[in-house]
Amino acid sequence: MKEVMLMCSVGDVSFDLDIEELEMERYRCNECGNKFDAIGEKVVCPACQSENVEKI
Ligand SMILES: [Zn+2]
Repeated sequence: MKEVMLMCSVGDVSFDLDIEELEMERYRCNECGNKFDAIGEKVVCPACQSENVEKI
């Protein structure tokens, strides 16, 4: 009797990446000068949590 090993690797994984287009905007913090990308209406500086930021 022969033992047959069948390595069955299923390569049937499909990634359905549905990345929404996020409109990131560039901001600068007036408190610490940090520049960052943010989205949304209430943007705070990730470095100092200040709301004193402006779009650049
Ligand atoms: Zn800041």
